[in-house]
Amino acid sequence: MRYISTRGESPALGFEDVLLAGLASDGGLYVPETLPRFTIEEIASWAGLPYSQLAFNVMYPFVEGAIPEQDFRDMVNDTYAVFEHKSVAPLVQVDSNEWIMELFCGPTLAFKDFALQLLGRLLDYVLKRRNERVVILGATSGDTGSAAIEGCKHCDNVDIFILHPHKRVSDVQRKQMTSIISDNVFNIAVEGNFDDCQQMVKDSFGDQSFLGGTRLVAVNSINWARIMAQIVYYFSASLALGGPSRSVSFSVPTGNFGDIFAGYLARNMGLPINQLIVATNKNDILHRFISQNQYELHPLEHTLSPSMDIMVSSNFERLLFDLYGRDGKALAALMGEWKTKSGSIDNSRWKSARALFDSHSVDDDRTCAVIKEVYEQTGYLVDPHTAIGVDAARVCRRSVSAPMVTLATAHPVKFPEAVEKAGVGVMPSLPPHMADLFDREEKYDVIANDLASVQQYVKDHRRN
Ligand SMILES: *Cc1c(COP(=O)(O)O)cnc(C)c1O
Repeated sequence: MRYISTRGESPALGFEDVLLAGLASDGGLYVPETLPRFTIEEIASWAGLPYSQLAFNVMYPFVEGAIPEQDFRDMVNDTYAVFEHKSVAPLVQVDSNEWIMELFCGPTLAFKDFALQLLGRLLDYVLKRRNERVVILGATSGDTGSAAIEGCKHCDNVDIFILHPHKRVSDVQRKQMTSIISDNVFNIAVEGNFDDCQQMVKDSFGDQSFLGGTRLVAVNSINWARIMAQIVYYFSASLALGGPSRSVSFSVPTGNFGDIFAGYLARNMGLPINQLIVATNKNDILHRFISQNQYELHPLEHTLSPSMDIMVSSNFERLLFDLYGRDGKALAALMGEWKTKSGSIDNSRWKSARALFDSHSVDDDRTCAVIKEVYEQTGYLVDPHTAIGVDAARVCRRSVSAPMVTLATAHPVKFPEAVEKAGVGVMPSLPPHMADLFDREEKYDVIANDLASVQQYVKDHRRN
């Protein structure tokens, strides 16, 4: 499998290079040159398979030629063996023909584990083979950092540095990152806000000379391997609910458009999907695009669903690339235009997206109301991101006969503030395997909000 840039200028790369690359040099994102396609019969034959075997079947075409079959099978088996629930992505019914897919059974209780547990293993494998060492540098407002650290803590050839804004992440989120004590893990609490952290990461990728030749690797959702791993659970939900002979709908709490883009790919690979719902909080640039064909940057709002607080959705370019008939030149021109002013796309292209996508935006008050509603109706507690997905599913649903699945992207214990505001009268508790989280030893360093200091820290602490 080869990968091409959405802006058409950078040379095509194999899987290994795409894994280590961030953005393409032309500013685009990498996508597969052609998508594997499965027949209905083939998909049907996977019914009942354990998650890891299904995951191998869905993902192997993407790595074929770069990683031998058995090695990839072993990696995938190891990855999903660490999930607490044996089914890996269990479904819970919350209403007639309406389901929640729990994607929080991994080590950090959010769906990002599905991709980052695999990414860590892939990096370790590829880097050992190349005899290369890399530095991962990332910024987090919460979920990505802990999932990346959990995924990479055993990687011999990776040193990972994660910046978080000092005193501005929740206690659970901080503890999850800083209680991982490993020689290659470095948590940096920056005396600034999340944007400061993100800017320092961006600047460091822009000029990597401070590392003297060591490659810097990105673990945010522009990394293709993350998208790839997220395709699998759309197949798993469908197969559990009567697919592929019946079509299933999904509602996806969305920020950077990574998770829902994986659903779009699942459909293009042959999985019958009736409808994909983009569920956003007040940061609703995607909702405004899907509902009105309007792409316009608004200032960032801080909400009770912080993992979806974004201004620009980085993966959205991957969808636009397809809507523009995979014409990299045309897309590069569009992205250039949208840098400076708001815009829209041809009506016919927008309509073709609307055939599959619907969208809805949910504010904090409504988020809390939905947490309460779901709890009162079913005794089931959802996190604020999931609540937004449930609301959007109910508002936008096109067909009552197609099973509706909302992706539960995090465990409610990660976001106690929203649950408390919802006033359900109970608080979520840590699952048994994490019950001792608050007793665990923490290790992190507080660094001034200054690029040179952070880069010096990385230089001083990396292992080679
Ligand atoms: C990252 C995250 C999201 C958004 O996912 P995208 O792939 O960026 O759309 C939603 N919910 C939670 C809990 C997350 O951690």
